[in-house]
Amino acid sequence: MNENEKNPAAENAASGNGNTNFIHEIINADIAAGKCPHVVTRFPPEPNGYLHIGHAKAICLDYGTAQKYGGTFHLRFDDTNPVKEDTEYVESIMADVRWLGAEWGEHLYYASDYFEKFYEYACKLIRDGKAYVCELTDEEMKEYRGTLTVPGKESPWRNRSVEENLDLFARMRAGEFEDGTKVLRAKIDMASPNIHMRDPIIYRIRHTSHHRTGDKWCIYPMYDFAHPLEDLVEGITHSMCTLEFEIHRPFYDWLLAAAAPEPRPRQIEFSRLNLAYTVMSKRKLLELVKENYVNGWDDPRMPTISGLRRRGVPASVIRRFCEELGATKYNSLTDLSLLEYFIREELNKSCPRAMAVLDPVKVVIDNYPEDLTEEMDVINNPEDPEAGTRKVPFTRELYIERDDFKEEAPKKFFRLAPGMEVRLRCAYFVTCTSFEKDADGNVTTIHCTYDPASKGGNSPDGRKVKGTIHWVSAKHAVDAEVRLYDRLFTLADLGEATGDYKEYLNKDSLKVVTGKIEPSLASAKAGDRFQFERLAYFCVDTKDSKEGAPVFNRIVTLKDSWAKMEKK
Ligand code: ATP
Ligand code: MG
Repeated sequence: MNENEKNPAAENAASGNGNTNFIHEIINADIAAGKCPHVVTRFPPEPNGYLHIGHAKAICLDYGTAQKYGGTFHLRFDDTNPVKEDTEYVESIMADVRWLGAEWGEHLYYASDYFEKFYEYACKLIRDGKAYVCELTDEEMKEYRGTLTVPGKESPWRNRSVEENLDLFARMRAGEFEDGTKVLRAKIDMASPNIHMRDPIIYRIRHTSHHRTGDKWCIYPMYDFAHPLEDLVEGITHSMCTLEFEIHRPFYDWLLAAAAPEPRPRQIEFSRLNLAYTVMSKRKLLELVKENYVNGWDDPRMPTISGLRRRGVPASVIRRFCEELGATKYNSLTDLSLLEYFIREELNKSCPRAMAVLDPVKVVIDNYPEDLTEEMDVINNPEDPEAGTRKVPFTRELYIERDDFKEEAPKKFFRLAPGMEVRLRCAYFVTCTSFEKDADGNVTTIHCTYDPASKGGNSPDGRKVKGTIHWVSAKHAVDAEVRLYDRLFTLADLGEATGDYKEYLNKDSLKVVTGKIEPSLASAKAGDRFQFERLAYFCVDTKDSKEGAPVFNRIVTLKDSWAKMEKK
């Protein structure tokens, strides 16, 4: 590159946008060495399942890196395996990547569009004496491969002539041979200490239709062969992937060196996200869906992007969380409370408050006029002065939470009990005078008197009440389905599971209750989020809510209740 030319990548690197991690140090060095005038990254999902929050980490790294260096980001479907892939997944992946805010513009690619190119590269390898058609059976192949301590043995088919290899490979493509009878292998080194360099298979025969190429092909490239070439074809400069591919990197480099001159894409590995109390393997997530342990890929308990979205987690929170994780080289287990912390922090700022009672018990204010309704001004969001107030109807009969009342107040219990005075949020001071119970001993009605001078919940004479509780007017309350979600599993590190991971499913991960919600909530729209005062953050379900009948998903409680339990 001419020294006087402007290099936007270098400028961006120098301005120090965003966090620096080891990946960015590598890129900075490449830029400084003049190897990479324009950074190009890609996110390469295989369309064989829905994306999860681990993928979000990869997306944020790939897209964030392209952004940081003023580069280009590609979304590429790595759809080289015809067996498990589906267009349903292609669509959900695009929706999820877009929702996360990563924009690919015109750079949407499908690896299956490169099948012809892959074939040509394979022919080039054959012509250069670097690939051969092998007819060992699976079992023989295993035996010849050797082990970590024993070198492999060369295949008897290894020294076929170029002509014979080209002919056989063309006939493999033409469909002359059965599945499993022949493969194309790279010719590298059967004695390599790296098993992936012992003449790896690069093509196999599969008489299977592909969701995009139909029956055009009956030979399909292996992932390790296709992926570097996909990067090469697209001009990817930095190809980020998870640590398990580190051992595949020598083949990545070998293949690209055999295929093309420099500059070539460079593979960089980072550690995958493992999140506590959940699983991240697509196979397991699929199993949970197929066997109805959850209600679909977007079940709000799932660690999928669509599940988190439906639960009500904002995309900005996921980005923030991923940014905090950064990129490292060591595997670890990320505490769920870190994600929950970012969710609470964001929702505390942005969510309007509302009153809802999820385990209702009736309160009667005996000295309040029977047919009076007062509209109380209730603050929408104490964190946001601009959010203003709303009117909430107040009447003689109310609902409060059952656990805000005790027949006998224990020490430090500052809510309702006989003789005790509390503030009803933004309404009045009330004092409990008596209560009624049913035959089973359950409290059915609590009687109170109110102090008319305390309107708005303000003390009339400087006397203090220690507790403030929420309420809804019984006459105006609307019944609503409320889904209380909790962790999907009871074990933090499912890698430590003995036996089947499904044995650790949390049986209480979903509780459905009918809540009494304040009337303004009845018109809430799908996707709206609220803090139900003193309870939790909720989001109106996008699938099951109806006009005027919202269903609420609990996003996260106000406090980390598990942390408390663990201490007890
Ligand atoms: P599979 O076993 O089906 O390959 P996968 O989760 O690796 O599952 P891909 O569709 O291949 O699925 O993943 C796309 C990209 O996301 C890859 O680059 C992969 O390295 C990255 N990725 C997958 N899981 C995680 C994770 N838990 N944390 C960070 N990145 C991930
Ligand atoms: Mg993968």
